[in-house]
Amino acid sequence: MSARIYLKVTREKSLLRKHPWVFSKAINKIKGNALLGDTVDIYDNKDNWLARGAYSPESQIRIRIWTFDQKEEIDKDFFLKKLTKAQQRRDWFIEQGQLTGYRLIAGESDGLPGITIDKYDNFIVCQLLSAGGDFHRYTLVECLKELYPKCHIYERSDVDVRKKEGLEPVTGWLTEPQESTICTIEEYGIKIQVDIANGHKTGFYLDQRESRVTAGKYAKDKSVLNCFSYTGTFSLHCAANGAKEVINVDVSQAALDIAQKNVQLNNLEDANISFVKADVFKLLRQYRDEKRTFDMIILDPPKFVESKAQLTGACRGYKDINMLAMQLLNPKGILFTFSCSGLMEASLFQKVVADGALDARRSAYFVDRLHQAPDHPVSSNYPEGYYLKGLICQVD
Ligand code: SAH
Repeated sequence: MSARIYLKVTREKSLLRKHPWVFSKAINKIKGNALLGDTVDIYDNKDNWLARGAYSPESQIRIRIWTFDQKEEIDKDFFLKKLTKAQQRRDWFIEQGQLTGYRLIAGESDGLPGITIDKYDNFIVCQLLSAGGDFHRYTLVECLKELYPKCHIYERSDVDVRKKEGLEPVTGWLTEPQESTICTIEEYGIKIQVDIANGHKTGFYLDQRESRVTAGKYAKDKSVLNCFSYTGTFSLHCAANGAKEVINVDVSQAALDIAQKNVQLNNLEDANISFVKADVFKLLRQYRDEKRTFDMIILDPPKFVESKAQLTGACRGYKDINMLAMQLLNPKGILFTFSCSGLMEASLFQKVVADGALDARRSAYFVDRLHQAPDHPVSSNYPEGYYLKGLICQVD
């Protein structure tokens, strides 16, 4: 029998709203034995059953909820149902965009806390961030094999957050090993090479897909500086839409090497695309000193904020790059600026960009807003799932 977890008085509130986490401080007592990843039943202080979830004895998020339905067991059928539903939720835009790369499971937002599953052509990449996902690894693989029999499955659980759960990093094939870990996906007509073993995260940043298409629409005849380019997909959309010049900037040479291959894959060798391995913060200052200017700049930095304590410092970082970018923009220039830090709320981000405009002595007009792609949906029960925000600014 699974262990029973009893919550303190009033601490059931978030579960009644179907939020998928129970913090250690909410727990009053445990009856029975609960080990890492075990399925446990949660009760309020009056012995009413509330939910069933995965136990993680070292994490502050002590339980992640699998189900709010007492009849539902956490077995193969449960995972099959979740995966099938997630696929169905995505079918409409996968078809619309002819996409061969998409996020199939976005953790809590798809009802599978701590589990990320991305599909890249015939590869499926699993990232198990928490004890529950880790515990059910092989059931998940069985389900994926059943639903996607042609796919090869790889694990990329090499993430720091696993430490908080007392889990070691894990990577490697979960099905028969393949010779290559590289594949090509297509998003809205653009081909992109993805290395599932050596790329960032699970190999690629799927969450910016629709924003890249939007960037393409602004790029005709413009000189574009694509900062934090990774494998250059923003640039490919810009070049394919007639940008006059595109410069990719990233610190990772491996990412820039793939970016170069992507140019060939898309027959864009004749476009004016270049690659600079540099620290964006330094390069923007250098360009300012050299009085270089651009018609359009894209700023898509990595996450600056891991905890609330880092928020002030992160605001400074965001303000700094936005100020520098605006200083480099020609009159009527376009800035695409993003923050993928969940803790940085949209209104605060807009304020920070506004502060950047003031310091740059420029006027910025927010002409549109961008968000994470639809395969990274935000569940109404889990607002924390909203993390990626972007602003399109016209800068006078
Ligand atoms: N825009 C990309 C995703 C960017 S992810 C896309 O559409 O795919 C963030 C990127 O920033 C990573 O590729 C990382 O290597 C790079 N990076 C991180 N810090 C950097 C810095 N200080 N200067 C330049 N690049 C940096």
